[in-house]
Amino acid sequence: MTLETKKGSLFSRLEAEGYEEVVFCFDPNSGLKSIIALHNLQLGPGLGGCRFYHYPSEESALDDALNLAQAMTYKAALAGLDLGGGKSVILGDPQKDKTKSRLRAFGSFVERLSGNYITTVDSGTSPEDMDVVLETTRHVVGATPTKGGSGDPSPMTAIGVVEGIRACAKFVFGSTDLTGKRIALQGMGHVGLPLAQQLAELGAVLIVTDTNKNHLQIMSQKLKAEIVEPNEIYNVKCDIFAPCAMGGVLNDETVSKLRCQIVAGSANNQLRSENVAETLRAQGIVYAPDFAINAGGLIQVAHELHGFDRAKAEGKTRKIFDTITNILTAAEREKINTSKVALRLAKERLEKSPSKLR
Ligand code: NAD
Repeated sequence: MTLETKKGSLFSRLEAEGYEEVVFCFDPNSGLKSIIALHNLQLGPGLGGCRFYHYPSEESALDDALNLAQAMTYKAALAGLDLGGGKSVILGDPQKDKTKSRLRAFGSFVERLSGNYITTVDSGTSPEDMDVVLETTRHVVGATPTKGGSGDPSPMTAIGVVEGIRACAKFVFGSTDLTGKRIALQGMGHVGLPLAQQLAELGAVLIVTDTNKNHLQIMSQKLKAEIVEPNEIYNVKCDIFAPCAMGGVLNDETVSKLRCQIVAGSANNQLRSENVAETLRAQGIVYAPDFAINAGGLIQVAHELHGFDRAKAEGKTRKIFDTITNILTAAEREKINTSKVALRLAKERLEKSPSKLR
């Protein structure tokens, strides 16, 4: 009998994609069901958020944990952090099933990994939840400032995305100046909103959408942004499309509608498949790889490990400008897509580094 994932049997996938450890956690007292996935720990312990989500199946929860942990390996490597790839998922509806006893039980499982995995916030969990996890493990970052954490990492993610967008603008239009540039923004959540605020301050013209209509009305009025329906955002004639909602939004159908020159946003796993990066290139659209441009939040929480200094974390986040510039330049020189270049640069850093653990 084999355990199946969407990409084949579990152990064949661990071998093919280079995972180190997968932990299935069950606590009968609280009812916690969680999976912790550790991908590549060559650069350091695996740091990645804990996602609390109502998965349609245990298989999809396992797939999500594996995919997310692998993405963290490359995100940390590209951001120049001495960290590996780790991620965890808790199965359940965060609105109904997120209890303090489950979060404490989750912390106990993290503690057992002796620091090989460091947890933090992700969708469905908050800095306040990390305060609870902190009761049973030391290996947490992103708790509230009252508990010694750096709080919500989303505004820092937005700072990094602005830098990535400026780098793309310089590459495509010859200037970082965003005055009058039309930017279509999908998702006005924790990252999308501070991003929209910063872009508005830089003189961009915003066209925004969100599935939460009330929230969208209030925010767009504040920012004097134009509103479009969620399914219309892909058709908007603009300079830059910034996906800041969910993953998988770039596929053959949506990309064929795009009328922009740049795609640069915070959403994780934007490409439905790697082939889409090639489609974007063929259409002459410059794509800022998601795991390169959205590393600001990771950079913030990583800085907690050595005594948190917000200015230092922001300085490192602003280097995303250089990272994106290097990726775009290499992709143009080598006539390959930007996603391939970003992955190669991350892998090169891993190959050059001696293992820090063990
Ligand atoms: P969030 O849940 O706060 O915001 C997402 C927003 O998108 C919500 O307002 C939601 O209503 C909206 N939305 C959902 N589906 C939509 C659709 N089909 N069309 C339009 N809007 C839709 O999440 P967030 O923390 O802002 O993160 C946004 C994205 O960035 C996610 O993909 C996340 O994984 C990624 N990301 C976030 C961080 C961070 O620091 N928060 C870091 C790295 C990556």
